[in-house]
Amino acid sequence: MWFTEYWTQNVGITIKAKEIKRIKSKYQEILVLDTYEFGKVLVLDGLIQTTEKDEFMYHEMLVHPALVSHPNPERVLIIGGGDGGSVKEALKHKSVKEVHLCEIDEEVIITSEKYFPEISSKLRDPKVKIFIEDGNKFLDEEESKNYYDVIIIDSSDPVSESEVLFQEQFYKKVRNSLRENGIMIAQTESPILQQEYFKKAVKNIKKVFKYTQVYVGSVPSYPSGTWSYTIASDYIDFLKIKPDLSKFENLNTKYFSDKLYSCLFSIPEFVKKLISEV
Ligand code: SAM
Repeated sequence: MWFTEYWTQNVGITIKAKEIKRIKSKYQEILVLDTYEFGKVLVLDGLIQTTEKDEFMYHEMLVHPALVSHPNPERVLIIGGGDGGSVKEALKHKSVKEVHLCEIDEEVIITSEKYFPEISSKLRDPKVKIFIEDGNKFLDEEESKNYYDVIIIDSSDPVSESEVLFQEQFYKKVRNSLRENGIMIAQTESPILQQEYFKKAVKNIKKVFKYTQVYVGSVPSYPSGTWSYTIASDYIDFLKIKPDLSKFENLNTKYFSDKLYSCLFSIPEFVKKLISEV
């Protein structure tokens, strides 16, 4: 059987599956596809979230640039990310003492632990605390103010529950939850097929933070295969810092590296043009 995700009204991705499991949660329809080419695939409301084959490309690029840019990241918050891939990558950094995961839908975590044991393998690590809450409301709580070193926005596309995670008001709460040297990193959609989402996210992030940089990477199962990430801080000028090489040691990555980091912000001209239009 075939599964199609419609990327736009005119283009999509079609994957052949041996089996499709359907789970209905309070928030969304969850599918687990067992595919020939991508291994197991997690789909929420018709949109691919992660696949066994290319999850490393997305999770490594979302997590490591922020963690190596911070001088000493100890407290990490991940908003969304219920599959556990970002938790797994964040815990590779020795300085990290605690990871808070704020996922709105507990069923995503349960599904990932059942069908994606590798990706979710660190969700029960003693350093990890899971909060089943809306990330936007979570940041209203007094305890989150001025607390985190790195906040990772690992959200789904800006529709329904995720929409708020792309708003200026939300980024302001993120900024207020970061302590000195704090860094936010957010997935900001495809700069090819989702240009309006991309531009809106970058515009809102730029309004809130002093330093903002965009970089791109490849994720074959996501719309157009080219994905954008926006990193921001009030303290760290990403173009001026040079992280210590020891920070890249033992990360055991398959995509990210110190060499890649050294040219991370050399982005394609068409992406620069889009940013200049925001
Ligand atoms: N980057 C991946 C993508 O774009 O396909 C996202 C992966 S991760 C599974 C996204 C998670 O964000 C989902 O599990 C979803 O339930 C969660 N989520 C959506 N809105 C949220 C919110 N307001 N607060 C916390 N989690 C949220």
